[in-house]
Amino acid sequence: MPDDFENDPHFINVEGDLGGKGMGILTRDALNLLMHGVINSCADGTPGFISDDWLNAIPAKTTIAVAELEAGGLLERRQGGYFVLTDDLVKMVIDQNEEMDRTKAECAERGQHLQHDPDESGWVVCEHCGIPLERPDGGPVALPNGGPLGPDLRNN
Ligand SMILES: [Zn+2]
Repeated sequence: MPDDFENDPHFINVEGDLGGKGMGILTRDALNLLMHGVINSCADGTPGFISDDWLNAIPAKTTIAVAELEAGGLLERRQGGYFVLTDDLVKMVIDQNEEMDRTKAECAERGQHLQHDPDESGWVVCEHCGIPLERPDGGPVALPNGGPLGPDLRNN
């Protein structure tokens, strides 16, 4: 095992470098799959359950990463998908979602977002809720008066 995980293209020391208690060392593919799976499970209203339907729908090959996560004790096979055994990760994503919901509601109640000073990136985000207010790629930005993300006009 290499000592310098920061520069290793394949492995990451999740426990040592990212504070992922009990997560040990994972391939970047497995960590990506786990993170996106948990985020998606929360968005789908089934926090901590990564469905076979979702795994089959994403374009990445997932079999090896899922096997790694199962062998590492981070996922457990259940009917129709996998149960995430890393409670801390699921809790972190739920807490983050609740925080985002709260700050977005506060901006809506205030009737305006708090504009962050622009930098050279061309992105301007609300410093309270993080929603994009201006962006260089023409993608969706916040609706007026503290509103949520508007439509993506790039698709028209
Ligand atoms: Zn805001």
